[in-house]
Amino acid sequence: MAHPKIEAVVKERHRMAECPVWEEKAGQLLFVDINAGTVCRWSPLSGDVQTVGLGDRVGCVALHGQMGSYVVASGTRLGLLDWDSAQVQWLAWLDRDKPHNRFNDGKVDPAGRFVAGTMPEASAPGVWQPGQGSLYTLYADHLVVRQLDRLGISNGLDWSLDHRTFYHVDSLAYAVQAYDYHLQTGSVENPRLLYQLPQAQGMPDGLCVDATGMLWVACIDGGSIIRLDPQTGTRLCTLELPVSRVTSCCFGGPDYSELYVTSAADGLSREQLQWEPQAGHVFKVTGLGVRGLASRPFAG
Ligand code: ZN
Repeated sequence: MAHPKIEAVVKERHRMAECPVWEEKAGQLLFVDINAGTVCRWSPLSGDVQTVGLGDRVGCVALHGQMGSYVVASGTRLGLLDWDSAQVQWLAWLDRDKPHNRFNDGKVDPAGRFVAGTMPEASAPGVWQPGQGSLYTLYADHLVVRQLDRLGISNGLDWSLDHRTFYHVDSLAYAVQAYDYHLQTGSVENPRLLYQLPQAQGMPDGLCVDATGMLWVACIDGGSIIRLDPQTGTRLCTLELPVSRVTSCCFGGPDYSELYVTSAADGLSREQLQWEPQAGHVFKVTGLGVRGLASRPFAG
């Protein structure tokens, strides 16, 4: 790795900032604060953060073909948010048999479908009932199909450059998995373990693929992002952040050479927060010598 520079760009203590998405047309960064139930967008030009509250936890946000409209996964529902009116058109309601579940991370696939997973709420701090999560695909016609079930905590996801492999984190298993991906149908099959995170390095959380096909995986409670080679399952390097609860990352900026990193303050004690004054901030990392890829909009 070259000599990366890390700076906090959104210096607000978010409870659990997650799911950064670079919106190229507007030159701004979208993200959510899961526990505050908000969708946020930050403009690097003005430095302003705009926020829309959805009244329930928000797992993720994604671009939509229509400007000013975004896909959101909130509680156990999927919908389209119209930013200016702050109204959501709800499209689907999942996991109805699991009232303590909520949507977590999601992303648009290379064919324009929205893929997002669910997880149970913690029954006690750091304790989750296993096998409660699922992974769903929202198709352009708003049909929803469950692709995976019996997951622990469905989390970060992305696709290989040839679109034939789907990468997915199950945080509760500390695992980054690879699956065969059928781009024509959106089906997910044939799981294999790509990387097992040692528990001392935290839990794998959000991830993104760079322009060379390598994976960047945020390690919550590990204070770092690791770069993995999916062909060999090896860790290429580790990027240390000034906060422990690193939640997710995405590339952005005019040429996708900036890595944006979200973090959380929830889960830290008052004393820990004194040691980590930047917990919950959003960071920009430059000088990595690696570029990323544009986010795709939902085609529905
Ligand atoms: Zn996450």
